[in-house]
Amino acid sequence: MSFSLSAAGVRVVLLDIEGTTTPIDFVYGTLFPFARQRVQTYLDAAASVDPEIEGAVEDLHKQHEQDAAAGQMPPGWLDQPGDARIPSAVAYIHWLMDCDRKSRPLKVVQGKIWEQGYRAGTLHGEVYPDVPSAFRRWSAHGARMGIYSSGSVLAQQLLFAHSTAGDLTPFLRWHFDTSVGAKMEAASYQHIADTIPASPSAILFISDVAGELAAAAAAGLQTLLCVRQSEERSARPEPSRGAGSGRFPVIHTFDDVLA
Ligand SMILES: [Mg+2]
Repeated sequence: MSFSLSAAGVRVVLLDIEGTTTPIDFVYGTLFPFARQRVQTYLDAAASVDPEIEGAVEDLHKQHEQDAAAGQMPPGWLDQPGDARIPSAVAYIHWLMDCDRKSRPLKVVQGKIWEQGYRAGTLHGEVYPDVPSAFRRWSAHGARMGIYSSGSVLAQQLLFAHSTAGDLTPFLRWHFDTSVGAKMEAASYQHIADTIPASPSAILFISDVAGELAAAAAAGLQTLLCVRQSEERSARPEPSRGAGSGRFPVIHTFDDVLA
């Protein structure tokens, strides 16, 4: 289908990243392995000099104690001698990544490692080829754009600042992560509409996950389900688009979203 922002009265386009602006495989096949391979070296160098990393290691330790108490069997954590702490944190971080756990201190560490890679030019944020032209088209029409992703705001900004198509951050006025609430909850979208601020019906949310669209629609936002052909063919089981995806108008590329 094709969708017209002006015909629908859309002033703000709110975008998901994984599976919408960016192949899911970039996250699982590039970003996560990049952080995983460098976490030991990074913590060795940064843990004693960067207070934010020191705090993240502290938080990881607390989270480890909770996981152990809950019988989740994370790898062991040694705090003594002092230099056993970093290998313990590394093993726990690898374990959290294997479990695909959404953990705030894990995201802090990953974000810092990615930042280093992006700034060094060894990492580039992948976007689908139709994304930069859509940003130009929509913004020329006066629409403004924002991101709502489970990746941290820092990770979002880095991805778009160092994208394969250059710096796309001038197009992005807002960045939201799960600190505003979960993506499957209507209250999160209400909060975003209040923050922007725009009336919910003037905001179009585009995502590849029907459950997120259902939450956005419940808050009064307009919605489009983005079904990328590459993801349809992919054997990867997740994220499941979920039941109810037939409720939402479908686009396959941002070329379908006219100004
Ligand atoms: Mg997604």
